[in-house]
Amino acid sequence: MPTRPLTIAAIALLCSAAAAGAETATVIRARHLFDATSGRLVEPGLVVVSGTTIAAVGASAALPAGARVIDVGDATLLPGFIDAHVHITDEFSGDHYRDFYHSMLRFPVEQSFYAERYAHATLAAGFTTVRVLGSADWVDVALRNAIEAGLVQGPRMIVAAHAVGSPGGHCDQGAFPPEKVAPLDPIHGICSGPESCREAVRDQMKWGASVIKICASGGVLSEADPLKVPQLTVAELEAIIGEAHRWGRKVAAHAHAHGDEAARLAIDAGVDSIEHGSFLSVETLKLMKQKGVYLVPTRLAAWFVNSHADGYPPPIAAKARMIADSHAEMMRNAMRIGVPIAFGTDSGVSPHGMNAKEFSLLVELGMTPTAALLAATRDAARLLGVDAVTGTLEPGKSADIVAVPGNVLDNIAATEHPLLVVARGVIVARPQ
Ligand SMILES: [Zn+2]
Repeated sequence: MPTRPLTIAAIALLCSAAAAGAETATVIRARHLFDATSGRLVEPGLVVVSGTTIAAVGASAALPAGARVIDVGDATLLPGFIDAHVHITDEFSGDHYRDFYHSMLRFPVEQSFYAERYAHATLAAGFTTVRVLGSADWVDVALRNAIEAGLVQGPRMIVAAHAVGSPGGHCDQGAFPPEKVAPLDPIHGICSGPESCREAVRDQMKWGASVIKICASGGVLSEADPLKVPQLTVAELEAIIGEAHRWGRKVAAHAHAHGDEAARLAIDAGVDSIEHGSFLSVETLKLMKQKGVYLVPTRLAAWFVNSHADGYPPPIAAKARMIADSHAEMMRNAMRIGVPIAFGTDSGVSPHGMNAKEFSLLVELGMTPTAALLAATRDAARLLGVDAVTGTLEPGKSADIVAVPGNVLDNIAATEHPLLVVARGVIVARPQ
């Protein structure tokens, strides 16, 4: 769903909010508020914002004198949404080969202009925090730094830099003749053997990665590698995960893996989340629950690739069809077993700004609207390690707030049409 650009009025509000600093309080009112600490809807909704943080929440909150009041009426206030799996620096154009060509030809600086646009679309859709799981040329690190410096607007970003995987695997760039395109090396995340993979992880962290992404199994959007085959050995997984954990970084494992061998190896080696998880068995899901390993289902990617199969080469379209049904069955098992689930979309595969479509897709699979909203707020914040800062509307946390029309528990698709987005106390989108 493309989001509308900022209106002049919204930009003016934004500028005045930024200029006013911490002294000017803003009161945001709505009929409902989704309390992500309890999972309940409370009425009326009221949040007092002071500077970049939440000063008070709830109907009994004291209203500061002279506070600016924004009343969004029959709407629900929620914590800013969190997407635990995006590729903020790229976007599918409808033509897989054209995208591949562009990704090889564009200068990193040129790509960063696209990335800034995608980051803004994501923010305007209500996603105030994202985890970026793999991008080329350090563009995600650079964009994260520019956002933190206040140069450009975008979500709070936890970034992986280059995804770490084996030569010829899902994280590699393709089998170009080495005389034409230099093969990737550990600096670019491609490694063989535990020492080489340890180096790859250290390189990503050296240049700014705050999370590590690995390709534990084959993938859908790479032509040559079979989904079934684990792409990292036990020794490589232990080197990668051990090194990341020593630095206090979490590890997210891309894993489809028929028979779920790759996911199992990654879980045994201590991985923190399994991404996609299309073929996870009941036994592995139970193990994930027991160990507290999150599932990030990225249902939107499975849905989008299937419904736009014409834009992909036949081997990729075939893989997408292969995972669709098993992914739905795996999700139903995961919900029944009670595996911790964090909301993630794989956006970039689908257009940035369409992230909230994932809510409806999760609910279609049988997830309650409350559980879907918690997955994108409190629970994703825990997985990303930002739960002290965001994920719930509580005093002292970052003023990351979304308002959507009506009662969100009655209509989960309302999340696709935010009325107001506030990120770190600044109004970043207020479609008229
Ligand atoms: Zn991905």
